[in-house]
Amino acid sequence: MIPVTKPFLPPKVEYDNLLQGIWERNWLTNNGPLVNDLELSLKRYLELPHLLFLSNGTIAIQIALKALNVTKEVITTPFSYVATTSSLVWEGCKPIFVDIDGKSLNIDPKKIEKAITKDTQAILATHCFGNPCDVDAIETIAKKHDLKVIYDAAHCFGTNYNGGSIFNYGDISTTSFHATKLFHTIEGGAVFTNDSLLLKKMVYLRNFGHDGSEQFNGVGINGKNSEFHAAMGVCNLKHIKEILAARKAQSEIYDQLLFNKKLNIVKPKILDGAEFNYAYYPVVFENEEIALNVKATLERGKVFPRRYFYPSLSDLNYVTKQPTPIADDIASRILCLPLYHSLSTQEQELIARIIIRTIKYN
Ligand SMILES: *Cc1c(COP(=O)(O)O)cnc(C)c1O
Repeated sequence: MIPVTKPFLPPKVEYDNLLQGIWERNWLTNNGPLVNDLELSLKRYLELPHLLFLSNGTIAIQIALKALNVTKEVITTPFSYVATTSSLVWEGCKPIFVDIDGKSLNIDPKKIEKAITKDTQAILATHCFGNPCDVDAIETIAKKHDLKVIYDAAHCFGTNYNGGSIFNYGDISTTSFHATKLFHTIEGGAVFTNDSLLLKKMVYLRNFGHDGSEQFNGVGINGKNSEFHAAMGVCNLKHIKEILAARKAQSEIYDQLLFNKKLNIVKPKILDGAEFNYAYYPVVFENEEIALNVKATLERGKVFPRRYFYPSLSDLNYVTKQPTPIADDIASRILCLPLYHSLSTQEQELIARIIIRTIKYN
């Protein structure tokens, strides 16, 4: 069986060594030494001034919205994981979907201004599949209209733009360290900001608003994460170079196997100036029939690609439907092919053979 993704696991002895310390200290959660260690190591690795390790990437978006006092209309992308939209709705905001660019698969900045109303407070955009949005264009629009910017950078660990981490952009960037992501802490996430006042606010939000043991600074939630999760992150970060290198090599193998074969398939166009992390291997097929045919044939061969992302988020039954024809079209005919650390070249060759056979001879 070849799934779309498999979590990376470090050698067990490395995790065991850190567990030993947890047992000795009997300190399991609440800003323990491993959480601190992970936050410091991540800051150093990503070359970022501030970040907070959180319980997951969804609470990260919710904390970002709360920290920026966003409660009304938010311009967002219809082409992302459901958490991007559901977090907005959960926080009582109204998602306003602006269609994507058909090449980058990210929100199309050229369409943003038309969607701005007197109630618009923020833009929440996803760097889809790890490919950065046009952050410069979005920043210009946000400045002009006095809007906050949050990036859902859940796919972006290891992606750089203009020589620095993509987590540098927006008022706040959020990410997920879920087991399926390139870098993970089993469950987990983070917020990033360059603004130390915002960071302080989020420190309170993450921990029930606690300001010491008996005082509170506003309403907070439990967004903390544990020593066990931090330990997985500390171990995995030591392997990040090999994780990123394997993804890149596997992606290049798929490129060789599948492109220039007249299959009428395309991949998202990566933003100029970006250093991509190869987190996913999305392929856009000519039409939905072919995409579904490929999916079914692969599944018969025990290979399980995923329709990331289907349906388009403007089709969710708890949002007001807004026309997003490009996102709807792409969602209908895109598949993410299996991509994970231990995927072998033979497995990739098998996958490519099935795809080529299905498209050429069906
Ligand atoms: C994974 C993901 C999330 C949610 O992260 P969790 O850690 O699973 O809560 C949010 N947005 C996007 C785009 C994701 O891929």
